[in-house]
Amino acid sequence: MPDASTDGPVATVKAGFSLPVAGVFLQGTVQVPAGRTTLTQLLPIIQNFENVIVGRVAEEAQRAGTPISCRAGCGACCRQLVPLNIFEAEALTGWMHTLPEAQQAALAERFHRALSALRDAGVIDKILNNEHVIEEGPMTQLAIDYFHAGVACPFLENESCAIHPIRPLACREYLVVSPPELCQDPSVNDVRGVQLPLKLSRVLHTFGQEIAQDPRGWIPLVFLLAWARGGQRPGELVAGTGEEVLRRFLDKAAEMARAEKE
Ligand code: SF4
Repeated sequence: MPDASTDGPVATVKAGFSLPVAGVFLQGTVQVPAGRTTLTQLLPIIQNFENVIVGRVAEEAQRAGTPISCRAGCGACCRQLVPLNIFEAEALTGWMHTLPEAQQAALAERFHRALSALRDAGVIDKILNNEHVIEEGPMTQLAIDYFHAGVACPFLENESCAIHPIRPLACREYLVVSPPELCQDPSVNDVRGVQLPLKLSRVLHTFGQEIAQDPRGWIPLVFLLAWARGGQRPGELVAGTGEEVLRRFLDKAAEMARAEKE
């Protein structure tokens, strides 16, 4: 039986986890809410899992003599199309609503400018065309066109991520080992990255595909404010006790890890 405890106003329980990563299992326990919990509310735990996976991969890259070259203050990759799963979109929307009004307005202005620039570059129409987002060839071309539009992520400030602790999983998973200057144009330079054994963003995309009946399960980060206006709460559709939701996530992750090995 899990230990029940109270952490501030939210009662929590200890839940065991086991996550398959590159032939080994990350194992341990985490505190999860005892009562009704949504997948969106478990995001901080999922982000911590991702940080551990990324940390292990970074150690392996270091041992192999190809250390991760990403550094604070380098925002070259923050001009790419960032797939934001709808649970992260819900969490970021909630976070933005906690900001002072002036800060919300400044962010809204940055999103507006980014969308306008992408529209002028002809990229928005391609994003809205599912064919460009689902099929590999058109998706690659869309990624190149998006990057060449040179539009920075609205959360990029002075070439650093203003939401670093809560940044999307896709941003955590982008790990480069080639010289950082090559990232100035990945479409012509040989930018080499590290493949994660298990991308937790893809696990969440799968939940998103199922509940939104959307072939993507994610939105481009730059669409966040437009998406938020719909008032959607996707996490409500993957809910239960904290332990139940964590189990559903871990089962899906294990299933996807097995499928990748086959
Ligand atoms: S969320 Fe942060 S890390 Fe991700 S693209 Fe935007 S600025 Fe970069």
